[in-house]
Amino acid sequence: MKTSIQDNLTFLGAAGTVTGSKTLFENNGKRILIDCGLFQGLKELRKLNWVNLPIPVDSIETVLLTHAHLDHCGYLPVLTRNGYKGPIHCTKATKELTNIILLDSAKIQEEDAERANRHSYTRHKEAKPLYTIEDVHRTMDLFITHDYNEWVIHNNDVKFCFKNSGHILGASMIEIQTDEHKILFSGDLGRRDPMLLYPRKVMKDADVLILESTYGDRLHSEENIKHELREVILETYKNRGILMIPTFAVERTQELMFLLNDLMVTESIPKIPIYLDSPMGINSTNVYDKYPDLHNHSRYVIKQMYEIAHYVSDYQQSRSVVQDSKPKIVLAGSGMLEGGRILHYLNNHMNSPKNTLLFVGYQGVGTRGRAILEGAKEIKFFGQYHKVNCQIRSITGLSGHADQEEIIEWLNGFRKKPKQIFLNHGEPHQRDALRTKLNFLFPEIDVILPEPYIPYPLIE
Ligand SMILES: [Zn+2]
Repeated sequence: MKTSIQDNLTFLGAAGTVTGSKTLFENNGKRILIDCGLFQGLKELRKLNWVNLPIPVDSIETVLLTHAHLDHCGYLPVLTRNGYKGPIHCTKATKELTNIILLDSAKIQEEDAERANRHSYTRHKEAKPLYTIEDVHRTMDLFITHDYNEWVIHNNDVKFCFKNSGHILGASMIEIQTDEHKILFSGDLGRRDPMLLYPRKVMKDADVLILESTYGDRLHSEENIKHELREVILETYKNRGILMIPTFAVERTQELMFLLNDLMVTESIPKIPIYLDSPMGINSTNVYDKYPDLHNHSRYVIKQMYEIAHYVSDYQQSRSVVQDSKPKIVLAGSGMLEGGRILHYLNNHMNSPKNTLLFVGYQGVGTRGRAILEGAKEIKFFGQYHKVNCQIRSITGLSGHADQEEIIEWLNGFRKKPKQIFLNHGEPHQRDALRTKLNFLFPEIDVILPEPYIPYPLIE
C-alpha cells in the first residue's frame, strides 16, 4: 500500500471519546483544523482543555467548523486567545448558533471561576476561566460563512465545501479536495429522517472518510415518540400536574415544539399552557425561525410551531411561572439538570407525585439527570438535598446522531467506497463495534481507529 507524502491527518481530540473534536489535516505541510471542540464530561477529559495543542497555534492556516455543538466549537476562543488569527469557515446558521453557545459557555466559566475564588476552592492560586466573553467576541470576528454546496478555494492545492449533515441546524459534513485526495469529514452524521431538517446528503464518493461513531454499537428505539409524549402529557394532565422537560437548547427544544404543536393542532392533547423558560433555548429558537428554508416543513407549520410556547426570558417572569402550580408544560435548560432554570422548577415541584419530570435526551455519567434515571431518591442542588417524589419518565428515541444501521445505510449510498475510513467521535466500544461491522460488510476498506496525536498518512 502506497501512502501519500503530501496529505496526512492527526486527531487532537475525539479519538476514542465523544468530545474535544479537533482533526488536523496537513497538505504539503500546510495545516487546516477541522472542528475545535471542548472536552466535556469526566474530569480527566476536561483537564485536557488546559493542555496546549502539540503544534504552534499560528501554524494553523484555517479552521473549518462542522457545527455549533460545544464539543466541536467550544475550544475556538482558547485558540484565538493563544494567537490564532486566521479565518473560521462554516455555514451561516452554524455561526449564529455558535455565537449563542460560546457566549453561554464563557458566561458559565466566568461564573464558575468567580464562585471558586469567592469560596476559595482553589488553595494555591486564583481560579481563571478557560475563556471569557471578550475572547468569544474576538473569535466571532474571524468567522466567514458559506452556503451548503458552495466550493471555497483555499489555495492552489486545496478547496473545500460544506454539505448538509442533517444533525442540527446548519450542521455540515466537510469535503476537502486536494491534488491527491477527496477527503470527507462526516462531522456529526444525522438520522435518515430527521424531524425538522432535510436528511443528510447522500455522497457519491470519497477517497478517505473521517466518520463519527457515537452510536456505532447501537440501534435507536423504534418507539413512536409522538405517541409516547402524548401519553406522558395526558397522564400528567390527569394528575393536574406540571410536566417539566429538561431540554438542550439547540435542536431538541425545537423538535419538542414541533411535536407539541402537532399534538395540539390535531387535538390529541388538551390546550395546556406551554412555556419555554430558557434564554438560550429562546435565542436558538429565534435562529431556527430565521432559517425556514433549512426546515423540511412548510413555512406555515414552522411559524405555527414557534408560536406554540410562551417565551420566558425575563427572570422575574420566570419566577412567577415557577411559583405557579397550575398544570402546564415547561421546557427549560439544562438538559442534564447540571444548572439552569430547570433546577428552580425541581426545587418547587419535584416534591409532589402529581408532577412529572420527563427526560428526552441522553444523560451523561455523573450528571443529576443520570442519577435520577438510575433511581436516586434525592439529589443535591442549591446547597441542599431535594427529594425526588415526582413521576419520572423518559423518551429515548430522540437523537441527532445516526445509529449503526443508519450509518451503514448512508455508506451504502457511495457509488465508490472510500479506501480508508477513520472512526472518530465514539467511545472505544462504540467505534470497535462499528469497525467490526464495517470490516465484515466492506472487507476492502481499511478501517482505522486513530490514536490521539499520531499523524496518519493517507493512502495514495
Ligand atoms: Zn453535534
